[in-house]
Amino acid sequence: MSASIKAKDTIYDISPYVGGESKADAGRIIKLSSNEGPFGPSPKAIEAVQNMTAQMHRYPDGGCVELRAALAERNNIKADHIVCGAGSDEIISFLCHSYVGEGDHILYSAHGFLMYAIYAKTAGGTAISVPEKNLKADIDALAKAVTTKTKILFLANPNNPTGSYLTRDEIVALHSKLPQSVILVLDAAYAEYVDDPDYTAGHDLVEKHDNIVVTRTFSKAYGLGGMRLGWGHCPEAIADVLNRVRGPFNVSSAAQAAGLAALADEEFLQKSMTHNKNCRDWTKFQLEGAGLTVHPSAGNFLLVDFGSPDKAENTRQYLKNQGILVRQMGAYGLPECLRITIGTDEEMTLAVAVIKDYIK
Ligand SMILES: *Cc1c(COP(=O)(O)O)cnc(C)c1O
Repeated sequence: MSASIKAKDTIYDISPYVGGESKADAGRIIKLSSNEGPFGPSPKAIEAVQNMTAQMHRYPDGGCVELRAALAERNNIKADHIVCGAGSDEIISFLCHSYVGEGDHILYSAHGFLMYAIYAKTAGGTAISVPEKNLKADIDALAKAVTTKTKILFLANPNNPTGSYLTRDEIVALHSKLPQSVILVLDAAYAEYVDDPDYTAGHDLVEKHDNIVVTRTFSKAYGLGGMRLGWGHCPEAIADVLNRVRGPFNVSSAAQAAGLAALADEEFLQKSMTHNKNCRDWTKFQLEGAGLTVHPSAGNFLLVDFGSPDKAENTRQYLKNQGILVRQMGAYGLPECLRITIGTDEEMTLAVAVIKDYIK
């Protein structure tokens, strides 16, 4: 490391993001550590990518025109209000780099997604964590934490890793307490999995207000995490800013082809959603039956409380020795918990059996 060349001070406050583990010394690996869909990508997405490989010497469509048109139609919104990114992470990064500078703050709820704080710091800003109530974002506490320095309030809805979500009414109430100068970012990475009628990803709210952004991803329900594809639905002025900041070819042609095909494969999405709901309910029931506390989840994962950090860590190691990878939660302030992604029926049957075997 060169000691004489210094980056911005806030960069040194960042603990680099540690993703879910993908390796263990076991014959078969069951990866339940990164909230990836259990069925792989849609076969149609695979075919679409295979069909474009001979064209990969060509630059991609920098405007993602076809993909934005398809997203606009699907979500009943304007294509001009959509900005695509290399994962929704990139949209979060664009927002931080555009609206957060030295001395500025972003707010996020205490057990919220870690990337908000990381990007805020890379932009020179400070990330303020706001306490939650019963592992759920607290709208009054969030609104009270706003100061003249606050630029963005990030809310994962549903939240990773807690699985909780705010209803449409709660989102509207939170927004009404915010000054016009604060952008409310609703990160709806898990929206596809939620079927509760009181939930909204928030697209209707973006159309009504100048300071709400919704981010979406192809990494979870669509099974395209490795392709890096996400998007933001923004008010016109914010879309204009993000289009200035983003690289001219920030989304690869393979990602665009995969996304378009995945979006058209209704059957695959339906299957993923139905499986997730059934298998999540089954897994929760089984683990509760074994005496564990399992937090309600609207996503494709469960946050399981093992009672103490030691018990959680020992269970994680035991699972890992058998090739089953789940996520540690220390970085999210929940060291007594593990986050377990919903895999296939067979994978979850195995994972549940190993957990029961260990804790008995
Ligand atoms: C997985 C996840 C994302 C998705 O990130 P991508 O960059 O689109 O892969 C965004 N937000 C939350 C809360 C997530 O859990």
